[in-house]
Amino acid sequence: MTSTTPASTEHDSIEPHTIGGVTGAPLSSRGAQLAARVAGGKDTAPIKTHAPFTGLPITTLPQATDADARAIFADARAAQRAWAARPAVERQRVLTRLHDLVLERQAEVLDLVQVEAGKSRMDAFDEVGSVALVAAYYGKHSAKILADRRHPGVLPMLTRAGEIRHPKGVVGIISPWNYPLALTAMDVLPALAAGNAVVQKPDNQTALSALWLHELAEEAGLPAGTWQIMLGRGSTIGAALVEESDYLCFTGSTPTGKTLAGQVAQRLIGYSLELGGKNPMIVLPDADVAKAATGAVTACFSSAGQLCVSVERIYVHETIREEFTKAFVAKTAALRLGGALDYSAQMGSLTSADQLENVTAHVEDARAKGATVLTGGRARPDIGPLFYEPTVLTGVTPEAALFAEETFGPVVSIYGYTDVTDAIALANDTPFGLNASVWSRNGRAGWEVAARLKAGTVNVNEGYAATFGSVALPMGGMKESGVGRRNGAEGLLKYTEPQSIAVQRGLKLRPGRGVPPTLWVKSMTAGLKALRRLPGR
Ligand code: NAD
Repeated sequence: MTSTTPASTEHDSIEPHTIGGVTGAPLSSRGAQLAARVAGGKDTAPIKTHAPFTGLPITTLPQATDADARAIFADARAAQRAWAARPAVERQRVLTRLHDLVLERQAEVLDLVQVEAGKSRMDAFDEVGSVALVAAYYGKHSAKILADRRHPGVLPMLTRAGEIRHPKGVVGIISPWNYPLALTAMDVLPALAAGNAVVQKPDNQTALSALWLHELAEEAGLPAGTWQIMLGRGSTIGAALVEESDYLCFTGSTPTGKTLAGQVAQRLIGYSLELGGKNPMIVLPDADVAKAATGAVTACFSSAGQLCVSVERIYVHETIREEFTKAFVAKTAALRLGGALDYSAQMGSLTSADQLENVTAHVEDARAKGATVLTGGRARPDIGPLFYEPTVLTGVTPEAALFAEETFGPVVSIYGYTDVTDAIALANDTPFGLNASVWSRNGRAGWEVAARLKAGTVNVNEGYAATFGSVALPMGGMKESGVGRRNGAEGLLKYTEPQSIAVQRGLKLRPGRGVPPTLWVKSMTAGLKALRRLPGR
């Protein structure tokens, strides 16, 4: 394991940084400029955020009160009417412009994401790529997906039936700290494309990254007020989010998701929940071991494992277990850790002290209950205050907390199996069902195993990126990993209220005056039989 720079340099490196390279503004003034975009909360106690790489302050963020939050919803509601009145093609054009701007201006936000989230630059670039893919997809397809649809009416030629889609109104979106750009894009952009206004509450830790995208969206043509960003504790503004939203979209942990779902149920509004996972990888006996080992490194340690779709359990066929473990451990141990704002490091830092505490506790608990640490298993304060080595465990017993619970850090356990059916059963033996990965030289065999896994997304010969990047595919969790889906047509239509309209002409759907009911029923029965055979029904 190597670090890119000595601790002292790391600790001095953030504060004098400019954001966006030499032409960018100093972080402190750019941070203040972006923080000024936060809606409400100018009069309450602000919160100071700190850079995970160094522990140094980043910026100060205003926090909304309950009254602020409700006023922000009222503003968004007023802005929504004009936005919804614009044609869908005009709304989607804003997303296409946003796509271009994000790619052009990426240097600035790569710095920001690294500073706020502690990611390696490649992990930060994944976020930029994800925003571009989402903006391109909804920028191209929204109007088509939202278009009015004709359907066969009950009586051919006499019933003209159609479906139209109305925006929900104001969508409340709660986002976590781990993918501030990608998750913002995946949840906010389709809500806007559907003609809604959005009130988003990102996590304070990575709020500047979301605010950066907000600034760019307005530059791309989104009218001011249509997307509002407010900040604050769940205990202070959670009630307003639940009570004022016309639809609630939550991404975060399963316990918080359950609490919010209980509250939202009282209002009978729609909601989607994107929650935690304990994602398995199955390495089939015919897998290319070297490729599987390389793929596992990305699948387990991207964003230091602070990724909802990250792999935390690997099931390897006994015939290749030793070979796979050796290759995977060697590649893991060779990962370069560091906090420079360039591409020199392959893995960054954990994002918060809570994260470091949880990861350390999970590994120590597993060790105490019989697990062996094959590599990693320790913090690296010499690199920065929140660095933790990528860690591979074996011999993890069911008593260990991390056997079944999400760690949400750079920690993975390897288990062996002899029968593929057992591997599938083990992979499915979890309350979660977010993502899974299967490795095989035979694509068809991989697909068949994938279809037997109870996970919302399954990647064959990839960890998570194949489904994550295929934005036309619905993405979300089965079981306790969530409700509803983001991305694809579903990720757009969930933000709409379908309305069915049918115009009836001529023949009514009851016998006319003087027509005996038995004759009516007889002719209707014949009609129903004929209808079933009609093409297009
Ligand atoms: P969290 O549940 O603690 O918080 C998520 C967000 O909800 C934060 O913005 C937080 O401030 C807010 N929040 C908390 N309580 C609230 C309340 N009562 N009312 C309103 N808002 C409230 O989760 P976290 O620790 O920030 O994120 C990590 C978790 O998120 C992990 O479990 C991870 O798997 C999950 N996650 C899931 C996905 C997915 O797509 N399925 C994506 C990213 C993260």
